[in-house]
Amino acid sequence: MTFVITQSCCNDASCVAACPVQCIRPRPGDPDFTTTEQLYIDPATCIDCGACAAECPVEAIIHHTELPDHMEEFRSINADYFTEHPLGDVTPQAAARRRLPQDKPHLRVAVVGSGPAALYAAGELSEMRHVEVTIIERLSTPYGLARFGVAPDHERTRRMADRFAPVLRRPNVTCLFDTEAGRDVSVEELRRHHHAVIWATGAFADRALGVPGEELEGSVSARDFVAWYNGHPDFSDHRFDLSGRRAVVIGNGNVALDIARLLAQPVTAYEQTSISPQALQALRASGVREVVIVARRGPAHAAYSTGELLALAHLSEVDLLALPDETSAEAAPASDVADPSSSDMRRRLATVRAAAARTPSHARQITLRFGLTPIGLTGDTQVTGINLRRPDGTIESIETHLVLRANGFRGRPITGLPFDPATGTVPHRAGRIIDPATHEPLPGMYCAGWIKRGPTGTIGANRRDATETVTSLLDDLARGRLPAPTSPSAHLAKRLVTPHGQG
Ligand code: SF4
Repeated sequence: MTFVITQSCCNDASCVAACPVQCIRPRPGDPDFTTTEQLYIDPATCIDCGACAAECPVEAIIHHTELPDHMEEFRSINADYFTEHPLGDVTPQAAARRRLPQDKPHLRVAVVGSGPAALYAAGELSEMRHVEVTIIERLSTPYGLARFGVAPDHERTRRMADRFAPVLRRPNVTCLFDTEAGRDVSVEELRRHHHAVIWATGAFADRALGVPGEELEGSVSARDFVAWYNGHPDFSDHRFDLSGRRAVVIGNGNVALDIARLLAQPVTAYEQTSISPQALQALRASGVREVVIVARRGPAHAAYSTGELLALAHLSEVDLLALPDETSAEAAPASDVADPSSSDMRRRLATVRAAAARTPSHARQITLRFGLTPIGLTGDTQVTGINLRRPDGTIESIETHLVLRANGFRGRPITGLPFDPATGTVPHRAGRIIDPATHEPLPGMYCAGWIKRGPTGTIGANRRDATETVTSLLDDLARGRLPAPTSPSAHLAKRLVTPHGQG
């Protein structure tokens, strides 16, 4: 008897502390915690108490008797992890209790952004007495990526927002919505009103493909497309032409798979979800029946998570296909991946090879393509196709009117803050923003989330990231390195807008 951690695991690790027998791995601090796709329960040790399931913010932990058919494989995914990583130490991890130093009894922090990293940081700070937190959010609603970046059919993951709502209701947390840092309030003004500022503004710019035709009509940023179908207010007027039969998605991370599922499945799969009304209407009229997912490298280097790939293979009305010569052992050398012989890698490769062997039986298809480098989009004003270079140097052309560029995101520069254009992030050490001229930390300036580490990891990965930043900030407070604010924070709130109580 055991519980099983499944596809929607957010890596937040709330379950780890809840387990009375310490049989969930990896734990924060374990070597593979920062790279793992999900957490796992050791079925040989689990005592079936259900404490972890109650704690999981995204309901990813399911009793093995209640696993739906398409999640059955997670039973062995959990068990296999412990074959390769024996359970070992079961000493409970001590929960860190934070408090302000006795000689520094007050702390005022501004957090810019209200996505997961921002709210994990705000949550850790505001649970201490005598700490005031001001959240500055450009939009009129909070939760950032947790609201506007999660696929509408991943309802469990979207519930992450519920976890953050109590933070916004705390009496020592003030939320200033419709307020853009750098436009409505300067870096200097924030600094003047607070001991410290944490920048958690995410990664909302595209990584360019860098090929001719990228600017054509029908060449669409995955970021814009995801924001549109999730009802982001900046994209409510966008229109995407879904009339063509084939769409091509560049990149094969989980965002690419989210988009492929959305375009390939019948609209009924989304009718009961929180998808935006505009997107639902567009999908009802969509002519797309085939989505081609194009990746530069082979299946051993795919960016998607195993759970998301398995989910794609289990869609009820869509065939997942691949090409035998792109998924053979020769085409998929795994020698330079971290753990080429792991059960996880074997499962991934077996899934794409099964896709290559599948005979199509549905009118709707998703095809995984590997080893193809985009070299140009064709068309005069509207995309009519994409040219791809094969490993042998030959060129393949795919006809399409819709190319979705899901090859990565990057942060945007913030006026008044250092920025590294090469990585699209703010330079930092353990969350302390570094002045590139002196290589020293800028007093009172911190960062967290994607603007700090780049667009990687699940929503829950921001918890550890935010903890690192908060630890640096509190350490600096204790060492007297934070400049004292010269104006009350209430003055700032009064000047900007009437603060919104958040529920
Ligand atoms: Fe641990 Fe209980 Fe969850 Fe099993 S069901 S993993 S024993 S918390």
